[in-house]
Amino acid sequence: MRDFSADHRWLSMNTATLRGAGRLDAIIEACARHGIRAIAPWRDPVAAIGNERTAALVRTHGLELSGYCRGGMFPAVDAAGKEAALDDNRRAVDEAKTFGAACLVLVVGGLPGALAGTPQSKNLFAARNDVRDGIAATLDYARQVGMPLAIEPLHPMYAADRACVNTMEQALDLCDALDPERTGVLGVAVDVYHVWWDPKLEAQITRAGKERLLAFHVCDWLVPTRDLLEDRGMMGDGVIEIPKIRSWVEAAGFAGYSEVEIFSSRDWWKRPVDEVLLTCVERHRRAV
Ligand code: ZN
Repeated sequence: MRDFSADHRWLSMNTATLRGAGRLDAIIEACARHGIRAIAPWRDPVAAIGNERTAALVRTHGLELSGYCRGGMFPAVDAAGKEAALDDNRRAVDEAKTFGAACLVLVVGGLPGALAGTPQSKNLFAARNDVRDGIAATLDYARQVGMPLAIEPLHPMYAADRACVNTMEQALDLCDALDPERTGVLGVAVDVYHVWWDPKLEAQITRAGKERLLAFHVCDWLVPTRDLLEDRGMMGDGVIEIPKIRSWVEAAGFAGYSEVEIFSSRDWWKRPVDEVLLTCVERHRRAV
């Protein structure tokens, strides 16, 4: 396993971690100040400053993108909704390509309407079929463009509203069905927050192998967790054995960035951006 204790060469900042710092340009400047080599931006903040400005900042600071967040949200109750989702995913693929991202992360979606608070169906199995069809269609386009798609299995507490793919095994079954040749254009994003509890985790990471391990996201699971979405912990403050999981992904061939992704409306989003970055760098060295 790589030694992270001496520097933060392999730390990537998911820009959601720095949401408290405001606009994406301010966040990117802060990352550059702290010698961060890679980021993973989200589409809304990119749209707020524009693709050209984002691309220019990435270029100016020599940043890599460990991923682009996000595509997915495929399930819909009718054909028009499904087609709209596919259009949106094609745009996300194009944006990811523009910025030279390592992959487009897919949060696949759950029950139609649930994210907006009004589920229009209880049929999770239908949603999973929509997800499969949606990834298949997006994959056709992603292959042409040359942009890998990373399915991110989410913790089962998000099955209704965010992602009905909840384990590595489920995500890898989709990968094997849609890309049996393991061409490298379809894989998984391993986020320790979502998968740390899974008794099959090590075996499924081994199964994924280098071709399917496209991203590695870190934060920590706080006890108690006070909010389902926005109470993620800084690495080292919770109960996830992050170095153990990193040893598994690296043993399977992953050699990319450890991307820090912390949604924390009660704590880290309220702190000064430089304090957050200094803490991320320090924890990356000793708790990742
Ligand atoms: Zn993640």
